Amino acid sequence: MKDNKNNIHPVFDKILNRPDKEKLLKQHSRVIWLTGLSGSGKTTIGRHIEMELNKRGYLTQVLDGDNIRTGINSNLGFSETDRHENIRRIAEVSKLFMNCGIICINSFISPTREMRHMAMKIIGKENFIEVYINAPLEVCESRDVKGLYQKARRGEIKNFTGIDAPFEPPLNPDIELKTDELTVEESAKKALDYILPIIIYKST
Ligand code: ADP
Repeated sequence: MKDNKNNIHPVFDKILNRPDKEKLLKQHSRVIWLTGLSGSGKTTIGRHIEMELNKRGYLTQVLDGDNIRTGINSNLGFSETDRHENIRRIAEVSKLFMNCGIICINSFISPTREMRHMAMKIIGKENFIEVYINAPLEVCESRDVKGLYQKARRGEIKNFTGIDAPFEPPLNPDIELKTDELTVEESAKKALDYILPIIIYKST
């Protein structure tokens, strides 16, 4: 057969794009990016937000250390370069979910402004909801959910955020949740009050 452009049949017109998928799912997708110290409550609040969204019929995907560090990023450590690559891949994966119409909830320390800025650039400013899970270091350390602070204090873990690696608080987060003042439910409600009006489906 002669190779001319009439023989090329792109299928892209048959593939659903993001607005089509958002319509299918009756929701607007975003990436909800929770940042904060270890033990500040990112995982707990992220899961709570997911549960509340699921109850209302929204489709979500949580990304956190449990499903990222053990899988796609299992070859990465905690050096500056690896932390950067960790966040870059997470942002790219989130973007795939978002383009599929799914609301992606990410719980990662993501300690520097530069890292979060990179994530925001990959995902797009208009799609990125930055949530600062804020608890003083002493509170996070006293919770010490995984015993990591004790290990870091003993020098068994190096480059531990808050101990011997910096955490740069967001300067202008979309939402700030002070988890030493709010209960998990109160934090989730405050987040949902901001998120729900954005993701509720509006046909155009
Ligand atoms: P991170 O994901 O930021 O490391 P986690 O959610 O794993 O933090 O751990 C936070 C711990 O603090 C959990 O054990 C949680 O039950 C506890 N916690 C106590 N009070 C609060 C609160 N008000 N908000 C969030 N977490 C809280």
